[in-house]
Amino acid sequence: MRAMLERRGTVAGAVIAAAAIGAALLAFASGSGAASQSSLTVNLPPAATDRIYGAPQARGRPIVVIDAGHGGRDPGARSVSGEASEKDLTLALARELRDDLVKRGRVRVAMTRDDDRYLTLEDRAAVARRLNAAMFISLHMDSAPNPLARGASVYSLSDVASDPDAARFAALENAGVDIRGSDGSVGSILSDLAMRAQMSASADLAARFVSKSTGRFELRPNPHRFAAFHVLRRAGSPAVLFEAGYISNADDELLLRSPEHRAQIALALAQAIEADVAAHSRR
Ligand SMILES: [Zn+2]
Repeated sequence: MRAMLERRGTVAGAVIAAAAIGAALLAFASGSGAASQSSLTVNLPPAATDRIYGAPQARGRPIVVIDAGHGGRDPGARSVSGEASEKDLTLALARELRDDLVKRGRVRVAMTRDDDRYLTLEDRAAVARRLNAAMFISLHMDSAPNPLARGASVYSLSDVASDPDAARFAALENAGVDIRGSDGSVGSILSDLAMRAQMSASADLAARFVSKSTGRFELRPNPHRFAAFHVLRRAGSPAVLFEAGYISNADDELLLRSPEHRAQIALALAQAIEADVAAHSRR
């Protein structure tokens, strides 16, 4: 109960902070003169939602943030047929995973987006921080010049990429990141010690994803990979990026567009998430 009250306090604090920022923006807008007002009324990205989904019996349970990659003016990768884009497939999978988790009742769920909206990587990670989330799961699909590349993989955060493919994928997903320190590195919100603990917990979570997925759908060789993903570094909680397959491969595209195949993926992810939560609650 004490923990719950504290958590509410944190959320309330975040709301107050957000209101203060809003007030500051308004003050800025009204103080800048009528001539420039029209230019100030456009292009503020819509806020990510902090809605929490959960079955009644999941009250007080840990919160899992599901992040459907891309959205709005950022379509992500285009499928090989040209008929599907990554942003639509990640949203479909995110909703299916949310519904599975809510139905199973062991965790609560929040989504960074539940519609076709553009969010920055920082907007996405901030949802996990505001809600004091137990974990952050970012859903993506890959695309590669080699049309034969296929299969799912799961990425956890590391300063050094595990392989050239992982480095390429992270560079693709980090594109457009605007928050960089004076040394050019992507900033962290945690101390080095806390960041090492977060990386290690994220690697454990990624290993559970691999073990629950094995034998149920196609995985890449060495499916647990590492790279410096901005969105994972900023989540402030154990965080992994799940790459569900290659939409540049015709077979993977067909599978990823099939609700039956996505249901298999969602179930494996839900079981891995629950196993991770259970392991932490025993410690
Ligand atoms: Zn992506």
